[in-house]
Amino acid sequence: MINRNLEQIAGMCGAKWNKKDADVRIAGVGTDSRRVQAGQLFIPLVGDNFDGHQFVEQALKDGAAAAMWQSGREVPEALADAPLLKVRDTLKALQQLASSYREELYVRVIGITGSNGKTTTKDMVAAALGTAYRVHKTEGNLNNHIGLPLTVLQLDEETDCAVLEMGMSGFGEIELLTNIARPDIAIITNIGDAHLLQLGSREGIAKAKLEIVQGLQSRGLLLYNGDEPLLKAELATMELPEGLELQTFGLEDTNDWSAANIDIGAVSSSFTVIRQGEASDAPYAIPVPGQHNVSNALAAIAIGRRLGISSEQLRTGLAGLELTGMRIQPVRAYNGAMILNDAYNANPTAVRAAIDLVEKLEGFRKKWIVLGDMLELGPEEESLHYEAGAYVTPDKADAVLTLGKLSERTAEGAKANLAADDVTHFENKEELAQWLKARLEPGDLVLVKGSRGMRMEQIVQTLEAR
Ligand code: ATP
Ligand code: MG
Repeated sequence: MINRNLEQIAGMCGAKWNKKDADVRIAGVGTDSRRVQAGQLFIPLVGDNFDGHQFVEQALKDGAAAAMWQSGREVPEALADAPLLKVRDTLKALQQLASSYREELYVRVIGITGSNGKTTTKDMVAAALGTAYRVHKTEGNLNNHIGLPLTVLQLDEETDCAVLEMGMSGFGEIELLTNIARPDIAIITNIGDAHLLQLGSREGIAKAKLEIVQGLQSRGLLLYNGDEPLLKAELATMELPEGLELQTFGLEDTNDWSAANIDIGAVSSSFTVIRQGEASDAPYAIPVPGQHNVSNALAAIAIGRRLGISSEQLRTGLAGLELTGMRIQPVRAYNGAMILNDAYNANPTAVRAAIDLVEKLEGFRKKWIVLGDMLELGPEEESLHYEAGAYVTPDKADAVLTLGKLSERTAEGAKANLAADDVTHFENKEELAQWLKARLEPGDLVLVKGSRGMRMEQIVQTLEAR
């Protein structure tokens, strides 16, 4: 984590400060007053419903070495002598501090964006690089304008590689993050339909992700999903920084990095790597299911090879992979059935990826797909739900259950390919769970997926084996 005296910190973020505090030592930065650690700089952020300034006094009592203070706010009597860094805007100062710190470090930064698969790819890249380097990665999903700078400030002088997730919901957000992180390598995992509402079109989404290029170091590398024609098309229209190297990865064999001999199991997958037409000798195994995870792993392998790690080491690193809050989690269900719990979130691309996974899994008596509403999709939401349902064909799954207002359209779509009897719509979660529970038999497979707001995990809880 950052370790500087107050004078240095003030210089890094353009703060005003009291000379008497010059030697106050700062170790680390925090914005959550409930989790202040001794020696930290506490940064009070101002939100719509809260103002961190009211916690500054407590944070200092709890061990913070100093705090920021946004100008225009009166300093209370109790803080008159406290070591404060006065800034115009505490959020901007946090970002500025992170950006200055990054400039001071000799660290290789890998920035990861995309509609789906950022966290997974982040974990995979970190597992791959961890076999040879000191790696720090974004904790959990801290990928926004606050989480990313905080992650940068967690880096040590000794960190070799920082693997940073960059999320967004609108234009300009990745631009901000990439200009703080200044990646040496940028990855775009894919383009999906998440945040269609804010970005208008899939082209818009591609453009927004490609903002990541703006912060790349000179002679950097952009590794992007070559299965997505939109990225290629958008790149062709952009003015790219000089010396920028482009590489593609994906399942199509035209990519610089692709895969063959793909074998998808319920809890793991294996594949061999094709590097510009040349096949690797031994297969890679990853302890996660799904074709999309093979694609994510290819990105990690490409980065590992780029940074000089041997294939053997990468195999070991990826085999030992542990994902952040495992998505598509296998859960033992009632009456000997198995659930794939993917209730964390949903959008059309991720739903199709999950249905593809169900198709690949063999040896089940009956495959059920339970889909809840996908939220925040914008004006096209009804047709996107219909299409998601219509994506299910009899060779992929046997039955579809839907939940929620928008999912009525999913059910209609599902009836385009499945018999009407095999598609059942519910408005009530508990009813759906009980209905399914009464029909589950040994050897059944159930995929459960929906947007976060649908809380589909409650269905999993009802169906779980006890
Ligand atoms: P968030 O925006 O919530 O941070 P994320 O981009 O970090 O999401 P992950 O958490 O890695 O994504 O994965 C979320 C879900 O997206 C997975 O459970 C899976 O269903 C799907 N997914 C993962 N990788 C891909 C991919 N390459 N293509 C399509 N879908 C994917
Ligand atoms: Mg994420």
